[in-house]
Amino acid sequence: MSDRKLPVLGPDATIGILGGGQLGRMLALAAGKLGLKCHVFSPDPASPAFDVVHRVTNADYTDTAALDRFTADVDVVTYEFENIPADTAHFLASRRPVLPDPSVLAVLQDRGLEKTFLLERDIATARFETVESRAALDQALRAVGCPAVLKTRRFGYDGKGQTIIRAAADGDEAWDSVGWQPSILEAFVPFAKEISVVAARGRDGRVVCFDVTENEHRDHILKVSRAPADISPALAASAVSSAQSIADALGYIGVLAVEMFVVSDGERQTLLVNEIAPRVHNSGHWTLDGASVSQFEQHVRAVAGWPLAEPVRFGRVEMTNLIGAEVADYARWLRVPGASVHLYGKAAVREGRKMGHVTRVLPDS
Ligand code: AMP
Repeated sequence: MSDRKLPVLGPDATIGILGGGQLGRMLALAAGKLGLKCHVFSPDPASPAFDVVHRVTNADYTDTAALDRFTADVDVVTYEFENIPADTAHFLASRRPVLPDPSVLAVLQDRGLEKTFLLERDIATARFETVESRAALDQALRAVGCPAVLKTRRFGYDGKGQTIIRAAADGDEAWDSVGWQPSILEAFVPFAKEISVVAARGRDGRVVCFDVTENEHRDHILKVSRAPADISPALAASAVSSAQSIADALGYIGVLAVEMFVVSDGERQTLLVNEIAPRVHNSGHWTLDGASVSQFEQHVRAVAGWPLAEPVRFGRVEMTNLIGAEVADYARWLRVPGASVHLYGKAAVREGRKMGHVTRVLPDS
């Protein structure tokens, strides 16, 4: 659907959300704050987002009858995760506006296309080669060198579908571990820090970014985010400018996150973009308690055709994920002065599963 046909939603309109995880849940809560209703579509009967909305559809993404009924009930469709099947996105887009546009998914669901998109726009990223076969992996290892990271082109997240190759002789093991899937081989980046920019782009093309966030991972899963990132103002400006160029080039509407590596070269620091997430992002959860508007509200405003807010950060903010069994710590966190506890209502505790998070806001030093 073209931009001209996009409706500006009234406060009683219904936003359809594909995906029922914690991101969908927090999007729905933000929409509720603005009087908007949400209808969540998810194949998982135990979706955390189902608990906070009035209307739900529990069906597979390929169930066209269910998708049809869903679109009849909503004014606009958005999504909380990037692996929506392309056919589903196109089916929905033929009936209702889908934001961000499904063309964005085609690029960002595939690490090869994503990296090529960045290269074509002169946005620096780690050196890479595409790998379609075991023989191509050897060729790529010669070009990229070791250590390197082999990542499946599709369906990777939280370190899943990727493996580090320390020596060229480890090719067999690495190729097995990614399940012989089309992949990319990327140079290992000895980064000084990991940062991200959470950016919102409105229907009018205006881009508003939250302060750059510094991210600490444990076992490839985000553990702590801190805002603002401890980087120079020039580097922060360059990170924001890259995020803005990416959002503009994609003609994006909504919130996206750009993950980047900070690389030190003597005194100089530079940035390499690692990944673009076409959705609200874990590294933006601090905005719920640490800023005057959250990433979730910005996304809702963008898809509703409302003006984006100008976020004001309340202080130094630290967000800690409660992962797997750590969720049991919530009782301790409830007693910590200044801590804001968020639990996602997931019944099953599994290793590596994001169960909740805690935010603390400290005065700016
Ligand atoms: P990704 O799924 O690409 O976001 O990767 C998950 C995490 O793995 C990143 O946040 C990094 O901590 C690490 N990682 C990914 N790619 C590289 C790389 N090329 N060099 C070093 N570490 C990496």
